[in-house]
Amino acid sequence: MESVIVIGGGASGLMAALTAAEKHDRRVILLERQQRVGRKLLATGNGRCNLSNTGAAPAHYHGQDPDFTLPALAAFSPEDALDFFQGLGLLTVTEYGGRVYPLSNSANSVLDVLRFALETAGVELHSACPARAIRPRLGGFVVETEQGSFSADRLIMACGGAAGGKLGGVTDGYELMKALGHRRTGLYPSLAPVYTDPEYPRALKGVRAPGALRLNRGEELLAESRGEIQFTENGLSGPAVFDLSRAAATGGEGLTVHMDLLPLEQAELLAMLRRRQALTPEREAAELFTGMLHNRLGRMLVRYSGVSGGATLGELSEEELLRCARAAKDFALRVRGVGSLDSAQVTAGGLRTEDFNSQTLESRLCPGLFACGEVLDVDGDCGGYNLQWAWASGRLAGRLGT
Ligand SMILES: Cc1cc2nc3c(=O)[nH]c(=O)nc-3n(C[C@H](O)[C@H](O)[C@H](O)COP(=O)(O)OP(=O)(O)OC[C@H]3O[C@@H](n4cnc5c(N)ncnc54)[C@H](O)[C@@H]3O)c2cc1C
Repeated sequence: MESVIVIGGGASGLMAALTAAEKHDRRVILLERQQRVGRKLLATGNGRCNLSNTGAAPAHYHGQDPDFTLPALAAFSPEDALDFFQGLGLLTVTEYGGRVYPLSNSANSVLDVLRFALETAGVELHSACPARAIRPRLGGFVVETEQGSFSADRLIMACGGAAGGKLGGVTDGYELMKALGHRRTGLYPSLAPVYTDPEYPRALKGVRAPGALRLNRGEELLAESRGEIQFTENGLSGPAVFDLSRAAATGGEGLTVHMDLLPLEQAELLAMLRRRQALTPEREAAELFTGMLHNRLGRMLVRYSGVSGGATLGELSEEELLRCARAAKDFALRVRGVGSLDSAQVTAGGLRTEDFNSQTLESRLCPGLFACGEVLDVDGDCGGYNLQWAWASGRLAGRLGT
């Protein structure tokens, strides 16, 4: 009987195993290192699982060749993914920015329907069974594990990336594949917090605000994003910050993050600040942004502008108002670093995609060997793009070149 081993029971491996098992008379063996499959999946989207994004296209992916994602995404689009999950009984809802979540708002729902499907399809699951070595043999592969060796005609590598160590992110995939001649690029954290000079963020710890972000090296613009910013003990976090973190991790020294915190032209904002001054001249200067920004953020911007919060609004000069308006449009902080791979959601970098056929995800070095998901040098933006890549690439790899 034809047989296939899938190494890794995360998002891409579950999809690959289910797809491979659609062909009857094929033995599908799924090896998972942890006690349970899909552990990282349960933590996604803050436990809500942002499982796809309706706008998924190569422009939202990074790596040495973002177009490598095209055949997989074309063959299994976000719409196809939603149809697939609906077929398993999962209801979903599409929110702002095309972000798709389970209607239940619980990542458990996504994992549950996948687990049920796995059982129904008769996939042979071995959990707590880390693969330790892969040996090619005539017309197939032998995988050595702590529970003995397994052999099959074909093999799908779905070990994921090194990000999120507490949830099981490991470097096993790269190491197992190295022994088969596969090289990897450098590994960096992506979708991670960005550490900055802590003075202002620390005082704003816990505040969330929408904004537009730019990451600069000197005058050079490296990346831009827009969305929620969270202030933390050591800097910045939140979806908009995650989207800059890849560029911050790889951008070298001398980086600055610039935040535009109000969606108004500077002249329009200045006119509003003058109106506030005229309306309540006796109030503290620290109240200048009251009603426009989170209270603590507004007070902090006044301080950042070098204006004494103890003065009254009426005492502020035109030049001071202008400084405050500028601060709201360009709150700039020096970047000190990026969270480690452990604190990152995704690994930037991975197995070199030029060593795989993008139409099938089969290795060019080792026929019969396929790879999918984050172990490859593909990482997506924040917003469901990484799981969409996991589903689409898992689907394609699970077709085993047919
Ligand atoms: C906190 C957090 C939140 C996230 N939120 C989102 C989100 O909302 N939306 C989104 O799109 N993406 C999100 N991501 C990213 C997304 O979870 C990953 O990109 C995706 O899970 C990658 O799928 P994968 O199958 O390649 O890897 P994984 O899901 O990591 O699965 C790999 C599996 O392989 C197993 N494994 C590893 N080594 C071995 C071995 N030697 N033998 C056997 N098994 C092995 C692992 O235990 C694991 O189960 C988030 C990530 C994190 C960490």
